Amino acid sequence: MSHSVRENIKQLRQEIGNVELVVVSKYRTIDELNYAYQYKQRSFAENRVQELIKKKELMPDDVQWHMIGHLQTNKVKFIASFIHLIHSVDRLKLIKEINKEAKKYNRVISILLQIHIAQENNKFGFTIDEVIQIIESNQFSEFKNVKIIGLMGMATNTSDKDIVKSEFNKLHSFFSERKDQMKWTTLSMGMSSDYPQAIECGSTLVRIGSKIFQ
Ligand SMILES: *Cc1c(COP(=O)(O)O)cnc(C)c1O
Repeated sequence: MSHSVRENIKQLRQEIGNVELVVVSKYRTIDELNYAYQYKQRSFAENRVQELIKKKELMPDDVQWHMIGHLQTNKVKFIASFIHLIHSVDRLKLIKEINKEAKKYNRVISILLQIHIAQENNKFGFTIDEVIQIIESNQFSEFKNVKIIGLMGMATNTSDKDIVKSEFNKLHSFFSERKDQMKWTTLSMGMSSDYPQAIECGSTLVRIGSKIFQ
C-alpha cells in the first residue's frame, strides 16, 4: 500500500508539472495519509468538516488543509483558526460568515468561488453571471478577512471528454478575463477522472483522491 501511494504520487507529479497537487483524503485512513505525507505531500483536502477536524488532530502541524465540500455556515467556526483554503464557497452569506470567523482569529482566510459549470444540477456554485454582478457591485471590498484567490469548478461526470473540456474551457476563459483585475492566482479544476482535460484547459490546481489511493 505505502509503495503504491508513493508511486502514484510520483507519477502524478511528473505528469502534472507545475500544476499544484492537492491530495483528497476523504474516506482514507491516517496511515494512508501518512504514506503521502512521508512522500513530502503537505496539502490535503476533505469534504466534511467533522472528518477534516479529526484528521487535523492526528496529522503533523505543517499539513495545509483544504475544504472542498459544501460548507454550512454554522460549521465555519470549527475550521476558521487553521484552514488553508476553502474551495467550495458558493454563496454570499458564506463569505460573510467566513469573514466574521476569520476576524476572531485575526486571520485572512483564502477562498475560491465555486462556479457551477456542470450539466447536473446537484452540483453547487455561483453562475458566472452572479459572480460578475458581485464583482461589479464591489460587495467583496467590505470583507477584510477574506481573500478571494480564484475559482473552483467541477465538470459533468461523463465519459464524453468534449463536454468536460467545453465546461473547463468556459471556466478558464472567465478566469483569464478577470484574473488581473481581481488578482486571482488559482483555478481549481480537475479530479481523478478528468485532470488531464482540466490541465489542458488551464487548471492551476488539481484535487485528486482515488487515483492515488486506489
Ligand atoms: C472527492 C472529490 C474530489 C476527488 O475525487 P477523486 O475522484 O477521488 O479524485 C475532488 N473534488 C471534490 C470537490 C471532491 O468532492
